[in-house]
Amino acid sequence: MINLIIFGPPGSGKGTQAAKLVKKYKLQHISTGDLFRYNLSNNTKLGKEAKKYMDKGELVPDKVTIKMLKDKVESSGKVAGFILDGFPRTIAQSKALDKFLKSRKQSVSKLVMLDVPDEELKERLLERGKTSGRADDVNPKIIQNRIDVYKNTTYPVFNYYFKDRNAVKVWGVGSLETVFKRLCFEINDLEVVKKTKKLAAAKRARAKKATEKKSKAKKTSTKKASKKKAGPKLKTAKPRKKTSSKRAKKK
Ligand code: AMP
Repeated sequence: MINLIIFGPPGSGKGTQAAKLVKKYKLQHISTGDLFRYNLSNNTKLGKEAKKYMDKGELVPDKVTIKMLKDKVESSGKVAGFILDGFPRTIAQSKALDKFLKSRKQSVSKLVMLDVPDEELKERLLERGKTSGRADDVNPKIIQNRIDVYKNTTYPVFNYYFKDRNAVKVWGVGSLETVFKRLCFEINDLEVVKKTKKLAAAKRARAKKATEKKSKAKKTSTKKASKKKAGPKLKTAKPRKKTSSKRAKKK
């Protein structure tokens, strides 16, 4: 199981990069922000509760968020792993996640943080606000509050995982592809990813061999069939030479 955390301040590109990583590593993407917005648009009890905090750029209480995350993981069925985007955002959430994964005989494989300077974050969020329809992307005060909450409450999560040496910072400024390559470089370094890749390569090789064997068998059987259709080869009789005795008779 690969359990990645894509981490970083609001506007650092977590969601965009997570969508690309999910495709490459065949993982299940869980974004707590998206889950809250889904509940909000469906006017659920959870959505109504979360709205009070989201509108102000505050964090939704841990208890509510942790439960939502666990429910989502548990209902995800058989997957190769998860990319958690926007979770954990507090130390309490990190501890709850570790405990939850441990109960499933798993752990966090790696936390990759997208490092982006504040000024760039503000610009990106205001730009996104023009089209995203997200109320928390429009107001500069709310944007600033989200960045402050990140620095004060969320950033310590990086240090929490860094202690176990499975947290890295990746420079999050550059083209989408460049940042993606930087992330992949860090993820490919994981033992669990190397092992998965090896297994996949072996599986591909086995499949290739089987198809080659099949097509070889097919070729031989069509050759045999066409021979059968043509019937037995008839020997063309050679013109008989006149024998000398015949010639002698004629004379
Ligand atoms: P995001 O889309 O990740 O920027 O999240 C949007 C908003 O959802 C945040 O500003 C919080 O109000 C709420 N939210 C998302 N994830 C969490 C979390 N792990 N803990 C608490 N609140 C969260």
